[in-house]
Amino acid sequence: MTAPVAVIDLHTHSICSDGTQTPQEVVRSAAAAGVAVMALTDHDVIAGWAAAGAAGGECDVTVVPGVELSTQADGISVHMLAYLIDPGHEELAELMRDIRSHRDSRMRRTVELLAADGYPVEYDAIIAKVGEGVTLGRPHIADSLVRSGVFSDRSQVFEKVLHGRSRYYVRHWAPSSADAVRVIRAAGGVPVMAHPFAAARGRIVSEVVIADLVDVGLAGLEVHHRDHDALGMQQAGALCREWGLIQTGSSDYHGQGKPNRLAEHTTDPREFARIVAAASGSPLLGAPW
Ligand code: AMP
Ligand code: FE
Ligand code: FE
Ligand code: ZN
Repeated sequence: MTAPVAVIDLHTHSICSDGTQTPQEVVRSAAAAGVAVMALTDHDVIAGWAAAGAAGGECDVTVVPGVELSTQADGISVHMLAYLIDPGHEELAELMRDIRSHRDSRMRRTVELLAADGYPVEYDAIIAKVGEGVTLGRPHIADSLVRSGVFSDRSQVFEKVLHGRSRYYVRHWAPSSADAVRVIRAAGGVPVMAHPFAAARGRIVSEVVIADLVDVGLAGLEVHHRDHDALGMQQAGALCREWGLIQTGSSDYHGQGKPNRLAEHTTDPREFARIVAAASGSPLLGAPW
């Protein structure tokens, strides 16, 4: 008899960024979905770690403390997952504060542009709903327009007014992907590029850019993700084999904010073990692995 394979999902979001569930609720949902190991990877913030870890202890889920950093390479947006970083690393903490602060100014500007065209959005009302310390993003504006009844759900708002080519799209500052990779490593963490071949989201970086990031410490690629088509998964998997990178697969769960379901893609335990072995910044939280 073979032992059942542990279900491992290394990419999820809570209300600390643009998910719709509290960190505790995400962990409980993960337990209900049969997930044994989950990473909480809110955008640019680690505020949910403690609550997720505590919930993991209660419902027998191992919680990998993580974050999804907003970065850019030659102006192309790159999401960099970082696992098991030292939460006390000052340079990394400052980097995340900087990104959140630029996201705040960017939200003010986006809301201004929408309001000027008659959309019923107000910065103060959005902040009041979202709460302190949360990483602000377009989904929060989308939720506000849904609450006002202008659109039916987040996806529709993105389709109509918040997509990357929209006149209401405002860019925000982000560190270079190479700088982010270096800081994550300095903080004892393991950098894995999120959905590298998600062409439908916008421009994607070339293999040359990925190779340069491997040179400065990029450890892995998120291979299995719903924003990849079959060819994208194949390409990402081939690069991992060729360059000895860690391969992950994950849901990118956002609660009710996106159709992504927990464990719709998963990571092989051997690949997860490589992440744990490469990390020195933070222990695993919740149930022992
Ligand atoms: P931002 O980081 O503020 O530019 O917003 C990007 C976030 O919006 C992503 O992390 C997704 O969670 C969310 N998002 C992007 N496209 C869509 C979509 N079509 N439907 C719902 N959420 C989306
Ligand atoms: Fe998101
Ligand atoms: Fe992402
Ligand atoms: Zn994500």
